[in-house]
Amino acid sequence: MTIRFTMDKITRDGNPVLRQIAQPVPFPLSEEHAQLAKDMMTYLVISQDATQNESYDLRPGVGLAAPQVGYSLQIAAVLVPSLDPHESDDEPYFKGTIFNPTIISESVKRGALDVGEGCLSVDEDVPGFVPRANHVTVRYQDEQGTVKTIKLRDYPAIVFQHEIDHLHGHLYYDHIDLKAPWQVDDDTKYIE
Ligand SMILES: [Zn+2]
Repeated sequence: MTIRFTMDKITRDGNPVLRQIAQPVPFPLSEEHAQLAKDMMTYLVISQDATQNESYDLRPGVGLAAPQVGYSLQIAAVLVPSLDPHESDDEPYFKGTIFNPTIISESVKRGALDVGEGCLSVDEDVPGFVPRANHVTVRYQDEQGTVKTIKLRDYPAIVFQHEIDHLHGHLYYDHIDLKAPWQVDDDTKYIE
């Protein structure tokens, strides 16, 4: 596997591309866009490999959106490992590159990771809960342009919302209540 995107290619907070509304991707996919999507997934695969990520000095990631590699396009690579920690060699929970994704429904129930969130594009961690919808239904296109719908809850739902946020120019800390970052809310599920 050859790696095109290393940490020096990841756009950082302050780069205007991270605050732009990303453009829809036309289908059939151009060769350039297909390659971009593959290269984004390669980053995630290698970043999650304990030995390889060291040699490339990659911060581990479960998602990477095109604006994070400098392209204002509605593409995000998602690689959520198996949710069962005893079966780490198992198939990932979700591995795919999603194009033109939209959240078509979301729960009233909120969800937030109990440790807060991080982002490859934000070097200095901003602490605090990042409240989102606990359940979402996402519609997207795959590489072939086929429209897919996926229902997600808890951790995977958070990951998809974080990535889709990138396509709308939002960063995770936009959702943090900076006056009371760890304020617990009864209607929110805190996800381990
Ligand atoms: Zn991010």
